[in-house]
Amino acid sequence: MNIAKDAAVSIDYTLKDDEGTVIDTSQGEEPLVYLHGHGQIVPGLERALDGKKVGDSFKVDVEAKDGYGEHDAERVMEISKKDLPKGMKPQVGMQLAAEAHDGEQVPVWIVAVQDDVVILDGNHPLAGKTLHFEIKVAEVRKATSEELSHGHVHGEGGHHH
Ligand code: ZN
Repeated sequence: MNIAKDAAVSIDYTLKDDEGTVIDTSQGEEPLVYLHGHGQIVPGLERALDGKKVGDSFKVDVEAKDGYGEHDAERVMEISKKDLPKGMKPQVGMQLAAEAHDGEQVPVWIVAVQDDVVILDGNHPLAGKTLHFEIKVAEVRKATSEELSHGHVHGEGGHHH
């Protein structure tokens, strides 16, 4: 079958940045399993997979707006080191949870460490970046009604419960 909404899809993927550096890959690991048409992968990649079938391999460049979004300068903030969790040694790249105005926990990443302050960025680390994917479709099947009601794929590479 061809990939369409509500398909359970497995893909092998490699993600590179503009310089050709590998950022993430499924090589040597399990394929990525997702439910097509439910926003579980970045929109530009999901669109590129539409209509593909098992064995198809292709490359796709996804612009930031169709990937992890543009970088929003308002989500960058500076906090005093003494406001960090006790005993924590801040390092660039560490992920923390910050509390938003509505009390919800949102992920932030440390992007710089200075004498008394650290700079936190609430943008996804890949925000503002063009994503270069190499994809191979490993498996496509209809999702079961149970998977659809749960909103995720079960079995190998999916949820176990
Ligand atoms: Zn489930």
